[in-house]
Amino acid sequence: MSSNCKHQHTLHAVHSHCGWDNSLAPALSVAPGECVEFEIIDASGGQLSAESVAEDVTKFDFAKLNPVTGPIHVDGAEPGDALAVKLLHFQPSGWGWTAIIPGFGLLADQFPEPSLHHWKYDTGCAEPALFGNGAKVPLKPFTGTIGVAPAEPGLHSVVPPRTVGGNMDVRDVAVGSTLYLPVAVPGALFSVGDTHAAQGDGEVCGTAIESPMKVALQFELIKGADLPSPRLMTEGPVTRHLDAAGYQVTTGVGPDLWEGARDAVRYMIDWLCASYGMSADEAYMLCSVCGDLRLSEVVDQPNWIVSFYFPRVVLEG
Ligand SMILES: [Zn+2]
Repeated sequence: MSSNCKHQHTLHAVHSHCGWDNSLAPALSVAPGECVEFEIIDASGGQLSAESVAEDVTKFDFAKLNPVTGPIHVDGAEPGDALAVKLLHFQPSGWGWTAIIPGFGLLADQFPEPSLHHWKYDTGCAEPALFGNGAKVPLKPFTGTIGVAPAEPGLHSVVPPRTVGGNMDVRDVAVGSTLYLPVAVPGALFSVGDTHAAQGDGEVCGTAIESPMKVALQFELIKGADLPSPRLMTEGPVTRHLDAAGYQVTTGVGPDLWEGARDAVRYMIDWLCASYGMSADEAYMLCSVCGDLRLSEVVDQPNWIVSFYFPRVVLEG
């Protein structure tokens, strides 16, 4: 943990909740400048373990999915302020999973059957994680779900992200980054969960390397920032772990960005299957944990181009 923390707190995973609700009592109060180490349960809410099989992802109790640890009350936070959350440190568990969950994911219509892959990875995240027949996935832990309580009363599903954050799945909310969240209620009521050991931009199959971890965060307040939605500042390059050997790139071309994204990913899956002999399920999950969707152009009407970047280091490194 960073040495510039005046006070350090620990919040255990027993203080977790599913969904967002501004009536939840804070598990902890902190002052601006203070740091908290959060213990985080994986996105299955503990419903999967190293012994689980593909069938188990069809038996999820959806009410228990994607728990977040919190909430934390930040002294002095008021609606209109921004809560600045600096990502200080991750302590990954070394076990994770990636699944194709029927009905979920960018190509849900083309992948109706469940699939589950278990990962055992280097807890220091210095070595890539092995997948299938020789693929090596570089790791970069981050928090998938991170946010503050919404202003609207009642319990809100954890699935969609909101302007107060939540299930953002932005890969670059990683060590060294600072995330700025619009505070909507007094005390902010911050929670965090859904830690991922790696994910590409898009999280296309619906899951990343889902993995329990500890994460240390530092909180600051920016009074009256009046942010419309979350904003992020990174410490440096964001794809250094993927860039070394270049990319294979497929494209989706047409007037609909959603369909363009689906086409770009589908064509990469086809290419991976034909070139490396992997199954479509394997290729889809691999794309989800390391490949990046990009908007290459949105101006040459009526056709936009969505690209899918697959890092060659994964298969050739
Ligand atoms: Zn997740």
